Amino acid sequence: MKLLAPVLEQVEKRNPNEPEFHQAVQEVLESLEPVAERHPEWLKAGVFDRIVEPERQILFRVAWVDDQGRVQVNRGFRVQFNSAIGPFKGGLRLHPSVNVGIIKFLGFEQILKNSLTGLPIGGAKGGSDFDPKGKSDGEVMRFCQAFMTELQRHIGPDTDVPAGDIGVGGREIGYLYGQYRRIRNESTGVLTGKAIGWGGSLARTEATGYGLCYFIEEAMKVRHKSFRGKTVVVSGSGNVAIYATQKVQHLGGRVVALSDSDGYVHDPDGIDLKTVQEIKEVRRGRIKEYLAVRPNATYVPGCSGIWSIPCDIALPSATQNEIDEASAELLVKNGCFAVGEGANMPSTPEAIEVFLRNQVTYGPAKAANAGGVATSALEMSQNSMRLSWTFDEVDAKLKDIMIHIHSISSRAAAEYGHPDNLFMGANIAGFEKVAKAMYEQGVG
Ligand code: NDP
Repeated sequence: MKLLAPVLEQVEKRNPNEPEFHQAVQEVLESLEPVAERHPEWLKAGVFDRIVEPERQILFRVAWVDDQGRVQVNRGFRVQFNSAIGPFKGGLRLHPSVNVGIIKFLGFEQILKNSLTGLPIGGAKGGSDFDPKGKSDGEVMRFCQAFMTELQRHIGPDTDVPAGDIGVGGREIGYLYGQYRRIRNESTGVLTGKAIGWGGSLARTEATGYGLCYFIEEAMKVRHKSFRGKTVVVSGSGNVAIYATQKVQHLGGRVVALSDSDGYVHDPDGIDLKTVQEIKEVRRGRIKEYLAVRPNATYVPGCSGIWSIPCDIALPSATQNEIDEASAELLVKNGCFAVGEGANMPSTPEAIEVFLRNQVTYGPAKAANAGGVATSALEMSQNSMRLSWTFDEVDAKLKDIMIHIHSISSRAAAEYGHPDNLFMGANIAGFEKVAKAMYEQGVG
């Protein structure tokens, strides 16, 4: 990296102790070096320097009362990263590991991901270090209400529209939306991922997992491969993992493993998804409980071992940096020929190198998991029109969007001399649209 090295240096200096943010920026800037060479006017207009700096960062106290009557204090975040092409849009993450660096890495990635969808949405992310695990419904409700009491003054249907992410599903969106509506006295599409009865979109729950499979199916077509008859390992067992598993099964593949943050289950006969949904979606239990229903499966504590299971296709769908170099080497050695990232930044830079070097069909997160936010944007459209589309209508639009993302990413990769490199292609295609908008709208 030459032209853009000073941009990265500045990011590292200005944002100390935020390794995930540095990693996300570095990966993108490395892909953009040839773009900077081709567009000196963007360099001169400071587009690269501006895109790595959030437009606004909001940090706030979230105080709530637990079931024992004790006051608990968490930290809330909303990083409104870039609104050049539309209102800020991106999920809220509730997990004890959340800090400003994590939210910034996710918000930065979200700019390019949202651009790739072809829909008018800017990039943002938010969340809190609150851990919903082990909390009662009442505690989760009081936390969400306290969180929204502050967040509501910074968001709006034409300003910033948050959604779910790790730890934020239908229950949390309900509590957040209820509080927004009470305080603001308005019923608008200010959040996505809402329930169907009050403004949600059919197929939003399934969208990220389904979209991931549509994208990888399209990417594999180039090599005359598909999910049919293939063995697939999926990490995680949350929203993305469950619906990726369902779509793999629809497409004729066999998912043999799923995980949570405690460990993974291996079921060589194929995962029984109904059982997983009962454990995870209904009871909010642990993946280990799968063995009570499927005694022939095995459970292994710890997460990284899941990548030692031989598979044709891997769909990491839990969290960032879950595949390191050694895990990537192991996957390739065992015959894995395609990797689709359901989670955000699940592969370390060294792991990505391994995939690219070994001609693995590699679907980078910002392209492969963009189906969730794309369908959120479709939810926003339905809210604005005060209409709802059928499941099949939304699913068909989602599929078209995923195929389009694949097509513009591979076109950009080829145009810049790296055919088949969807990692570079997605970074470039996502960036170019935002850069053009920032350039045309002047310095600010
Ligand atoms: P959920 O909260 O529904 O599920 C997360 C899953 O990942 C759980 O199984 C969880 O296990 C596991 N997990 C979380 N943190 C860790 C960790 N530190 N180590 C190991 N496992 C972990 O979240 P989602 O399915 O919504 O999100 C999963 C990933 O997909 C995230 O990277 C998210 O940013 C990304 N994503 C989600 C989208 C969406 O629409 N939901 C859209 C695009 C990307 P446990 O229950 O033990 O915590």
